Amino acid sequence: MNLKNPPSAHKENPFRWADKVPCEWISALYAADRTIPDESLCDRVGWALYARCDSIIRVSETYETKVLSCPGCGRRIPLSDGIFTCPECGFSAAWEHFCTSYKGKSLYAANALPVFRRYQLKFSRAGTYGEKMCAIDTVIHSFHILLSYREAKASDDAVSSQTVWSPETESLSPRLGRSTGVNLLDGSLSEVLRFLDALSARPGTEDAYAVWKRALHRSNGMDERN
Ligand SMILES: [Zn+2]
Repeated sequence: MNLKNPPSAHKENPFRWADKVPCEWISALYAADRTIPDESLCDRVGWALYARCDSIIRVSETYETKVLSCPGCGRRIPLSDGIFTCPECGFSAAWEHFCTSYKGKSLYAANALPVFRRYQLKFSRAGTYGEKMCAIDTVIHSFHILLSYREAKASDDAVSSQTVWSPETESLSPRLGRSTGVNLLDGSLSEVLRFLDALSARPGTEDAYAVWKRALHRSNGMDERN
């Protein structure tokens, strides 16, 4: 990419975002977890999710603040007259290019932004295989929150505790929105929901699974009896 090109010279979209993570990787990781844990696969999946979260966070923050973290040098660039221009490295791109770059890719975090931020923090600090698996399991089984996280932003801890769903906190379920797995995993909405549904159906976890399944179906407008 030639960072010195003026905006009018952009023929290719200069924004590059991390792809969704293949469901097959997650399946293999969970299958290994039930037999012989695969630490290298855990790292591969975990960092792929980290990169995906990074793209989601950058798209969401840029859209909401109209300030871009320069892809060339990292400098914060405010939108000016519909164009991001970096005085440091010469990168420039139009707002329309930015909007086109993420359209239809499930890269806007909406009210799940704290979930993706928390995953990055937890996974990057995880020292053991178990801690990494816990971070991965949490982020793919979380939900968007229907109430804006900004309205509830009394403190970071409060935001975190409200956005990580578990069977014990099902009282929060009326406020749950779409599954965050849809932002992270490859496939259509129904494919990802079916995948998560099957992934969570593990022996010995029937009670928690049944509660989770009801929440998943309710939050995505599906028939809870399925
Ligand atoms: Zn720059």
